Amino acid sequence: MKAEIFSNKGMKVFCDTYLCRTPAQYFVGSPKGPLMLLMNLCQDCRDSILNTLIDQDRQGLSKRIEELEASDRINKEKKEHGGKEFPCKHCGEIYWSPRSLGAHVKMCPEKKKDGEV
Ligand SMILES: [Zn+2]
Ligand SMILES: [Zn+2]
Repeated sequence: MKAEIFSNKGMKVFCDTYLCRTPAQYFVGSPKGPLMLLMNLCQDCRDSILNTLIDQDRQGLSKRIEELEASDRINKEKKEHGGKEFPCKHCGEIYWSPRSLGAHVKMCPEKKKDGEV
C-alpha cells in the first residue's frame, strides 16, 4: 500500500509522532484505507517523514538496479564461459568467470581466515 500525505482540513488533532505535541496539519495514510491507519502529522514531522520515505525509496531503487546489473553480468559471463563454474576454493561460492572469481578471492572473508593474505 502506498502511503499518501494530505491536509487534515483544520481538524483539531495533534501530531502522532513520538513526543511531538504540535497541532497536526496533515494525515499520512491511504485515502482508501481504514481511518485507523492514518497518522496525524505536524508540518515539521511531515517534512522529516517525507525525507525518510524518499531515502528508503532511493535505497530500494538502487538495490533493485544493483540486482538487475548483477544478474545481467552473471548471464553474460555464463554465455562467455559456457556456464562453467568457478568456485572459490576458500568459501566455495560459485562464480561464472575467472575474472569475477579473481575479484572475489581478493576480498573473500574466508581467505583471510585461512591466513593466505
Ligand atoms: Zn510533529
Ligand atoms: Zn571466497
